[in-house]
Amino acid sequence: MKNVPENYGCMVFNDQAMHERLSREVYHALRKTVMDARPLNLELADAVADAMKEWAISKGATHYTHWFQPMTGITAEKHDAFLTPIEDGRAIMEFSGKELIRGESDASSFPSGGLRATFEARGYTAWDPTSYAFIKDETLCIPTAFCSYTGEILDKKTPLLRSMDAVSRQACRVLKLFGKDVKRVTTSVGAEQEYFLIDVEDYKKRPDLILTGRTLFGAPAPKGQELNDHYFGSIRPRVKAFMAELDDELWKLGISAKTEHNEVAPCQHEMAPVFESTNLATDHNQITMELMRRIAARHGLVCLLHEKPFAGINGSGKHNNWSLSTDKGENLLDPGRTPRDNAQFLLFLTAVIKAVDEYPDLLRLSVASAGNDHRLGGNEAPPAIISMYVGEELEAVIRSIIDGVPYLGTGQTIMDIGVSTLPPIPKDNSDRNRTSPFAFTGNKFEFRSPGASFNIACTNIMINSAVADELMAFADELEKAEDFDDALKKLIRRELTQHERVLFHGNGYSEEWVKEAARRGLPNMVSAPEALAHYTDQKNVEMFRRQSVFTQEEVRSRRDITLEEYSKTVHIEANTSLYMLERMIIPACIRASREIAESVAAKASIGIEAPAEKERARTISEKTAELIACKERLEKALEGMPTDQIGEGMAYRHLVIPAMEAARTLADQLEMMLPRNIWPMPTYADILFYV
Ligand code: ADP
Ligand code: MG
Repeated sequence: MKNVPENYGCMVFNDQAMHERLSREVYHALRKTVMDARPLNLELADAVADAMKEWAISKGATHYTHWFQPMTGITAEKHDAFLTPIEDGRAIMEFSGKELIRGESDASSFPSGGLRATFEARGYTAWDPTSYAFIKDETLCIPTAFCSYTGEILDKKTPLLRSMDAVSRQACRVLKLFGKDVKRVTTSVGAEQEYFLIDVEDYKKRPDLILTGRTLFGAPAPKGQELNDHYFGSIRPRVKAFMAELDDELWKLGISAKTEHNEVAPCQHEMAPVFESTNLATDHNQITMELMRRIAARHGLVCLLHEKPFAGINGSGKHNNWSLSTDKGENLLDPGRTPRDNAQFLLFLTAVIKAVDEYPDLLRLSVASAGNDHRLGGNEAPPAIISMYVGEELEAVIRSIIDGVPYLGTGQTIMDIGVSTLPPIPKDNSDRNRTSPFAFTGNKFEFRSPGASFNIACTNIMINSAVADELMAFADELEKAEDFDDALKKLIRRELTQHERVLFHGNGYSEEWVKEAARRGLPNMVSAPEALAHYTDQKNVEMFRRQSVFTQEEVRSRRDITLEEYSKTVHIEANTSLYMLERMIIPACIRASREIAESVAAKASIGIEAPAEKERARTISEKTAELIACKERLEKALEGMPTDQIGEGMAYRHLVIPAMEAARTLADQLEMMLPRNIWPMPTYADILFYV
């Protein structure tokens, strides 16, 4: 892109565009409405809509859409033209305030988890003025929340906004106790996005990639990621061109893509943006994923966002870097310079530690999917056990608080809350623990469990709500205290003592950790259905209600929608496995053994004995028979599924997936024995090492 600063955000109706195009009064009225989180009145909306339309048309837009995030993993849009015909056969471009603030939508095709019947299926979308409108594909996209007419929420955006409000409310109360008058605390997120790029020609030949996003079969390539030569390695020219175009498109939309690099696995890459408010970060991450897919196609590539496209090499995640900051720009997770700021930092840190220890199930289930099950607990991503890493220095500080002894840090500072300063906590401690799911990285937490394809809203709803709930209890207690400093010290010490068990610095991939975590009573939910069953646990429902994020019904509906999605995903994978076995793999195996058999027979007819070849034909033939039996077992496993969502999810997990895996193991063995020209699809070596 030429002239980056000038073009940055040129397709966004951002503050600058509003400033330029709205009258002073309208601009200030709109800002005030947004700051106070009040609904927009119609007069104001008309003025904003008109300016927005003029701006959009000047950028080539012809349509507008209410852009929202239903419970399916994607974003939804229904395009309407600005066009309105008038009497004499001409047309004008119109867009009213009413159309801006509210859209009607037939909600019946979006999952609601039984929240409403089809006859009352209308839903509406409402403008979320905290996220700017933008232009994509000549369409003005208006970020909106999506609700049913009876008020139940049907999307991921509304609860995210509610959870951000909850944190803000409680954090402001806590800050008040430290003598700070803060109106708004915002949660910020930087979502690092991992993805694979492969050649479209290979993709087209793999029904599994097309239908499920991952390879259901495939023996390892002779070379994998063992040399680590891909990580930060030089980037293929085609990929470089893709990244340049992606940056351009993202920048135009005001998405601050900052770093692009190769990742560990061959063909794997990462994009990291600069952090921003969670609401914007969520919208922007959704757009980023969409653009990645689209731009890849222009370069003859396919972008895979599945969590585990290839067995045996790393999968793709999305690191959710999370922090809290005030409207005055103070990062509440930045260890302070004065004793007072240290105490405040420690209190917020304690709230996060307690939240993770009390709601590990919510964090775990916020990243639960069929795809991510292949990753969590594999030898790469964080394990399914949710623990925290705070760095050695900070852990030593915590230890000294718990033990009630002075802390002698590297700077020989004696640590006493409220009296002395914390030692400087190194921001970029390079030896930081990569195996921890929830790591403190200097002034933010990095939650590493989300899968590459996830909408980050869910994870952030959980973190925000849980932290808000802990802050609420802290504020309740401290507001009553007569001696604040004394009460603060006691509270921090008590809570750290109680929740220290969630801190872990060792190797999160090790077998010992699984045992140690069990001893500490930390849950280990290895599969999505197991985790999702906990959505509706009483403590969770009550917490969501206390923070006004979800009603009990909304929690249950979300559980059911996610479980159903899990079961459907595995079902499609199983069907695709069967299709490939029946139509591609088994016929190829039969052909291979027949060709050898014919060759052996021909040789025998002229007196050449070929015992090794004969043996090979027999092995392939026998393994093919086993494979056919496996296929039949997989078909059987799909019969008679339980009708309740949890039971169904468990059956897919414990009956269908193992049957699929058994078939795959055999098919992969056969792949290694078959001539390359008979194997009916591109191999891992072909796909991962394209030029
Ligand atoms: P890494 O070493 O993991 O690549 P970086 O320090 O480059 O980490 O940051 C990773 C991500 O964290 C970036 O997206 C960055 O914008 C984000 N980040 C930095 N500070 C904050 C913060 N205060 N809140 C949320 N995210 C942040
Ligand atoms: Mg990171």
